[in-house]
Amino acid sequence: MRLSRYFLPILRETPKEAEIVSHRLMLRAGMIRQEAAGIYAWLPLGLRVLNKVNAIVREEQNRSGAIELLMPTIQSADLWRESGRYDAYGKEMLRIQDRHEREMLFGPTNEEMVTEIFRGYVRSYKDLPLNLYHIQWKFRDEVRPRFGVMRSREFLMKDAYSFDLDQAGAVHSYNKMFVAYLRTFARMGLKAIPMRADTGPIGGNLSHEFIILASTGESEVFCHADYLNFDIPAENTDFDDIPGLQSTVDKWTSLYAATSEMHDAGAFEAVPGDKKMSARGIEVGHIFYFGTKYSEPMGAKVMGPDGQERPVHMGSYGIGPSRLIAAIIEASHDENGIIWPEAVAPFDVAILNLKAGDAGTDAACERLYRELSAAGRDVLYDDRDERPGGKFATADLIGVPWQVVIGPKGLAEGKVELKRRATGERETLSLDDVAARLV
Ligand code: ATP
Ligand code: MG
Ligand code: MG
Ligand code: MG
Repeated sequence: MRLSRYFLPILRETPKEAEIVSHRLMLRAGMIRQEAAGIYAWLPLGLRVLNKVNAIVREEQNRSGAIELLMPTIQSADLWRESGRYDAYGKEMLRIQDRHEREMLFGPTNEEMVTEIFRGYVRSYKDLPLNLYHIQWKFRDEVRPRFGVMRSREFLMKDAYSFDLDQAGAVHSYNKMFVAYLRTFARMGLKAIPMRADTGPIGGNLSHEFIILASTGESEVFCHADYLNFDIPAENTDFDDIPGLQSTVDKWTSLYAATSEMHDAGAFEAVPGDKKMSARGIEVGHIFYFGTKYSEPMGAKVMGPDGQERPVHMGSYGIGPSRLIAAIIEASHDENGIIWPEAVAPFDVAILNLKAGDAGTDAACERLYRELSAAGRDVLYDDRDERPGGKFATADLIGVPWQVVIGPKGLAEGKVELKRRATGERETLSLDDVAARLV
């Protein structure tokens, strides 16, 4: 992408309305724009990151055996009357009437709809286990939308729903998601700790929230510090290995970790003093097992091996990709801007042309731009006729992991500069060496 032809509306001023650093940086870097309270447009740079986050979420869901579909954002009130949640959900639900005065709603979650789909097709235990997920916009009319996309009203959610014949099967499905979540967040450079959690309006009895520690987090959390150094399950994890998965989950739940709703001060006392962490946290994911809470009232039943029909055991599993982006920035930035982990960076490399219009500099930049792009790297080429200071500031602000600085002085000696955003380290190399390093 040539910056001269891109749409990157950088803000010079720090927006006053933004209270936390991720919100400020997302606005300044031209990633998002507020269109109404808690409702954001994703500008091109923001959308690139969102797509990368979604790709990781999707890969790890698929790896664990979940299957993607896409359900609509608008749902019918009648569906929610079947589960009894239409009235119970309260003011967070955006209720809509269509032209025929039918009651509709903008989905805040999809348990009812996915249960309706399931019951329309699945009749036998032989078709289980099944886990269906989608990545779709949700709307919750939050009392206090704030912190940009951290707590917005319209937000993206990956929500998965598992169906099993019995509780033992459902626990295995739960464990699959638990492990998939550990991998998902780790791939984004985050240390997410699974914490015992309240099940809230969705109901049920087995539940963990995945929490990122951050001073700006809205939850109060208590946990054992050793979680920060636990090993993440490997890419080749066998998701069909029932005892193997269980032992991973057992390890990751062996030490104390709870949100304030579930906090047990007595149990926390047993954690050694130097390992006690009480901190603020951001909820980036949440998994539930809730048995037959929806399948029973909605009649989602299958025939068991004994010929008896019974309601399926279900779980639901959410991740907020839009909130995650804010959480990643909270965890990874400095005074100059965002520091993207490579896996979710909007661009892999920025090429900074220090003298646009100078034939030799232009040619060197163009060559590197072509080579890296051909190798499949996402490259942002700053080809604008601007002062070097502005280019450095932009590249730092938007947090591209690698910057290649190319100017006539260096080129006279056959050299360009390679800067690593995360550490600020700089190296002087030949153009060929830079290309070899970055492809
Ligand atoms: P919170 O406690 O922050 O209100 P929640 O418990 O209501 O979140 P869940 O119903 O568990 O949220 O939804 C699953 C995931 O969706 C959350 O873990 C979070 O990542 C994301 N999410 C929920 N509400 C919002 C929101 N208002 N803005 C952005 N992401 C959200
Ligand atoms: Mg909520
Ligand atoms: Mg919550
Ligand atoms: Mg939750």
